[in-house]
Amino acid sequence: MSERGMLIVLSGPSGVGKGTVRKALFNEPDVDFKYSISMTTRKPRKGEVNGVDYYFVSKDQFEENIKNGEMLEYAKYVDNYYGTPLQYVNETLDSGRDVFLEIEVNGAMQVRANCPDGVFIFLTPPDIDSLRNRLVGRGTDDIEVINKRIEKASKEIRMMQNYDYAVVNDKVSNAVDRIKTIVKSERLKVNRV
Ligand code: 5GP
Repeated sequence: MSERGMLIVLSGPSGVGKGTVRKALFNEPDVDFKYSISMTTRKPRKGEVNGVDYYFVSKDQFEENIKNGEMLEYAKYVDNYYGTPLQYVNETLDSGRDVFLEIEVNGAMQVRANCPDGVFIFLTPPDIDSLRNRLVGRGTDDIEVINKRIEKASKEIRMMQNYDYAVVNDKVSNAVDRIKTIVKSERLKVNRV
């Protein structure tokens, strides 16, 4: 029996610390899943590298990829497209490796509809004030963008019930441990083929 890899989806509101948790997770010596690099039309932030943090593409290129059915999911988020290239995910799962996505909630629900076998994890802030503090503290967005993100986050938190697991990001190392525990127990499920 050749085993297909497991698709692990980490989602939750922007600013909750998904990126930080994901990077910390991938620094763990015993984490062996493959990260799916997203595609976006957003401009790179300082220090971000094309092909590492994202594939940075033009709006035309992104829309062409959508038209050609090359995206597993995509969403428009604060005036930019973000999406998961389909080919990498399929090939990696087929090779038996587990794939990890870190995406916003609309995209996660598209994946859920297409890949019901996936493991869907919702990362949640301890409260909305800490989310605002994180976004302000990060200093990468102006106040208008922060307010838009907060408004969106309040709606997104209500979507938690559509996920298999909720992980509170009170501390990055705690969130990482919780995700590792989830993945370990998912691998032990008797009906996982
Ligand atoms: P940022 O601009 O802060 O890097 O990302 C904004 C939001 O887009 C975050 O919530 C991030 O998780 C999400 N995101 C990143 N990549 C993808 C993707 O491939 N698909 C979707 N739907 N959302 C993504």
